[in-house]
Amino acid sequence: MMWSIGRRGALAASALLAAASILLLAGCQSGAVREERANAAPMQAQSPAAPAEPRARRPEFDGAKAFEMLKRQCEFGPRPSGSEAARKTRAFLLAELSRYADQVETQEFTYRDRVYSNREISLSNIIGIFNPEAKRRVLLCAHWDTRPVADMEIDADKRRRPILGANDGASGVAVLLELARLFKQQKPQIGVVMVFLDGEDYGDWDRMEGVLLGAKHFARNMKKYRLEYGILLDMIGDKNLQVYREVNSERYAPRVNDRVFRIARELGFEKNVIDQLKTEVIDDHIPINEAGLPTIDLIDFDYAYWHTLEDTVDKCSPQSLAIIGSLVAETVYREKDGTGGR
Ligand SMILES: [Zn+2]
Repeated sequence: MMWSIGRRGALAASALLAAASILLLAGCQSGAVREERANAAPMQAQSPAAPAEPRARRPEFDGAKAFEMLKRQCEFGPRPSGSEAARKTRAFLLAELSRYADQVETQEFTYRDRVYSNREISLSNIIGIFNPEAKRRVLLCAHWDTRPVADMEIDADKRRRPILGANDGASGVAVLLELARLFKQQKPQIGVVMVFLDGEDYGDWDRMEGVLLGAKHFARNMKKYRLEYGILLDMIGDKNLQVYREVNSERYAPRVNDRVFRIARELGFEKNVIDQLKTEVIDDHIPINEAGLPTIDLIDFDYAYWHTLEDTVDKCSPQSLAIIGSLVAETVYREKDGTGGR
């Protein structure tokens, strides 16, 4: 997927990091004050931070099973929107999702290609709904299409060929499919709307033409799902996994970020899910946030094989999928189905 805003992103990130440092310092000082007070009046000592939530009782996320789902997608070859391989992948995803979800539906739509040709292509968002009776519902999503051109290759011939998208495409979907298996095994207390988005990486990122197609379509049609917040997974299969807070996620959905990064720390994932602001990316979460649903992007943009023919299965690992999968599972299973609404 996607596109990184270099300089502007870096500036925004450094400004926010500076603010974060000040807050951290403030936090240390008040911590010291609290300690003094506690020493002076031990009987009235208060716990300064929110009490740690208990671990969720939940099935174990199986990284090997998720990795199998990554490989199965890659066996179809490159899977750009509108291709024969995409049709096969769509059937595969529908079949897998139907095994686990309470309801399965699709959103079919078309796009008049203005980037590579002048033909109309058919696209499909694939949606699984879990625990539809719940009052609260969250969105989990990832794009299932892969980029039709390896535009980060140096060689001009290679640049015209489609990428396999083991990380950029298959990884997020693989984690969602394993989560779907878990949700069938043990129903979460809240509802989950799982969306496999099409057409994220189809067109021209410089002109923002023909990209984020599925997310834009979903954002226009998501009201009926009554969602509370969302988590987008993209490029989370890299063997050397380093997911940071993403700048647009922090801008639109800071509380979701706070919660997810705190849970990552509690699970001992802080070496791979790093609680610092880094890259600013344009990804499927942007149209969804603009339509009013606070949604974060969990993404490792530091990937040497991004948009090249080398984005292959051997660059990914079951361990990385397991870290992100366990994190999302823990986040979902901790949620209680309260009175509903935002
Ligand atoms: Zn991409």
